[in-house]
Amino acid sequence: MTPRRLQFEQGPIRPPNEAQSLLLRFTRNCPWNQCLFCPVYKGRAFALRTVAEIKTDIEAARNIADEIRGVSQQLGCEGTVTDRVISTVLSNPAHSGSYRSVAVWMYYQTGACFLQDADNLIMRTDDMVEMLTFLRRTFPEIKRVTTYSRSRTVTRKPADALKRIREAGLDRVHIGLESGSDAVLKLMKKGVTADQHVEAGHRLIEAGLELSEYVMPGLGGQDLWREHAVETARVLNRINPHFIRLRSLRIPARVPLHARLEDGSFRMLTDDMLAEEIRVFIENLDGVTSTVASDHMMNLLEDVSGKLPGDKPKMLEAVRAYQSLPEPDRLVFRVGRRGGAFRSVRDLARDPATCRKIRSLIDEVQRREGQEGVERMIAEMVDQSI
Ligand code: SF4
Repeated sequence: MTPRRLQFEQGPIRPPNEAQSLLLRFTRNCPWNQCLFCPVYKGRAFALRTVAEIKTDIEAARNIADEIRGVSQQLGCEGTVTDRVISTVLSNPAHSGSYRSVAVWMYYQTGACFLQDADNLIMRTDDMVEMLTFLRRTFPEIKRVTTYSRSRTVTRKPADALKRIREAGLDRVHIGLESGSDAVLKLMKKGVTADQHVEAGHRLIEAGLELSEYVMPGLGGQDLWREHAVETARVLNRINPHFIRLRSLRIPARVPLHARLEDGSFRMLTDDMLAEEIRVFIENLDGVTSTVASDHMMNLLEDVSGKLPGDKPKMLEAVRAYQSLPEPDRLVFRVGRRGGAFRSVRDLARDPATCRKIRSLIDEVQRREGQEGVERMIAEMVDQSI
């Protein structure tokens, strides 16, 4: 008898809000792979996975979930993954990474599943429908299935194909919109135009899918920041997605955009410029009912979030609160935020002890390495979360 498989393949990333989802890899890497700012799949070839491979992975995830439920029964926890069960599972070094990830998923009980990697709607529609049907049948406890895709791919998918995929069990699509400015999209080799983003957004929504659009503050650099902010808002106003998620630009040495930073042809925004860009962006969102989330560690202002249109004043106030801080306090906030100590400007008043510690750290770095040293320290802290 063949032993039951207790591990399966997983990809390198998922959106921040899918951290507690079951992660299953439907395709490998990105079929476009040219965006200048993207560090994720460079040097790795895109590959479709076969239906048989994916089914085997789904079965392996099921085997793991059943085995973990059995461990829970043995420990008297009635099949639930309690603190005791999770620590028993995680402390066993024999378990694979995928085994552990199923345990964590069961512990959080989100009922959510995220399909990796970058562009799963590129799969043949019949294969996608077969996989989703199999997934839903094998895991009836799953309540939401989400994936990444590219706007360009969505515009090539017939409307009835998207509906079939929706009916087979896909609930939500995350799109990397990044910008609504054609100049920025072209500069960054995104491989899509603003109009194609709008068309893709409409198609997904018309097919009954929830749509989550990722926007990248800072992507226009110092030359195109205003156009980036205004045009991105304008495109989102035309789409009215369910979610708008902010994930700010960072430029680690391994991305192609880094060469342009080095030769001076691309100038990054400072944090203060970024705050102003976000203010202009939010100000220009108009007539949409989207939920805005700023849930990525790379974002300076986490509390620029809420449901439009009602929370727009609150979001603008979050930016204003940062902009109206005296300069030394802005620096304390930036260091605290990037180091994970603060989530909101309000934390400065709530936590004077941490503020004092950060001030003395800033003084020390300034004495040793000047203001440049402080900026370097902040950049290093943010880049740790890429
Ligand atoms: S489409 Fe997405 S995953 Fe692919 S290179 Fe661009 S940003 Fe990266």
